[in-house]
Amino acid sequence: MTEAGLHTLLALGLAIAAVPTAVALFVTTAPYGRHLRAGWGPTVSARLGWVVMEGPAVLLFIAIYAAGEDATQWTPLVLLCLWQFHYVERTFVFPLRLRPAARMPLAIVALAFCFNTLNAYLNARWISHLGDYAPGWLGSFPFLAGSLLFLAGWLINRWADRALLRLRADGSTAYRVPRGGLFERVSCPNYLGEIIEWFGWAIATFSLAGFAFALFTAANLVPRAIAHHRWYRREFPDYPAGRRALIPGLL
Ligand code: NDP
Repeated sequence: MTEAGLHTLLALGLAIAAVPTAVALFVTTAPYGRHLRAGWGPTVSARLGWVVMEGPAVLLFIAIYAAGEDATQWTPLVLLCLWQFHYVERTFVFPLRLRPAARMPLAIVALAFCFNTLNAYLNARWISHLGDYAPGWLGSFPFLAGSLLFLAGWLINRWADRALLRLRADGSTAYRVPRGGLFERVSCPNYLGEIIEWFGWAIATFSLAGFAFALFTAANLVPRAIAHHRWYRREFPDYPAGRRALIPGLL
């Protein structure tokens, strides 16, 4: 089998795996953050866990990208910048803002590390080697629309994550009801932004790898948004009644 055939098969496998993953995560919420519970084996510092599990999305991605034949072409370089724009912050800045005592199961770190390794291969190899972008791709409709969507999702995700982290600016470890902006419409605007971002990436790269990743992100975050929403309703009896879990007015 050629590498292109194997790459397609792996990307297709990831897209298909999104379905059982979503079902499993509806049944069992991933045990980290507010859903951390006993019975999931040893735990590690959440700060360290985030750096380790997201590490392949920065470092391995760059290594695989650099080995590609088109690594010095403009379109792959711009796509590389978009990807790293998200992942450098997520891997090396976001974890430092988590509460120092937070823990997460090693099993979650290991699973996410494996996922990010596969995903780094699929997306980096596509943009710098297997994909074939015409010289005018940076001016094409899919690239422009996808990049705009990516940036809009990024802004929503970063704004919401920062608003959540600011809820503990006084050093407390308690959960509070987030207020303001999109939080008035949904419980998890950070997840909504993340999903928008990766569908934007899928359109900008117009690739099976990108769509598989976007689907897998939704498979992860839709069940988690619903679990967070139910948790807020349970914990805060006066939780705003009109607020949805993830999509304003819909879900
Ligand atoms: P959460 O929204 O659960 O938590 C984000 C941070 O804010 C945590 O430090 C959390 O503390 C804190 N926090 C959340 N809600 C409150 C509240 N009401 N009061 C006080 N503090 C709060 O996000 P995740 O940790 O699940 O995800 C973090 C980022 O990673 C998000 O941007 C998400 O989109 C992204 N992500 C992407 C995935 C993908 O598949 N692409 C998969 C998973 C996450 P604590 O940890 O104590 O709960």
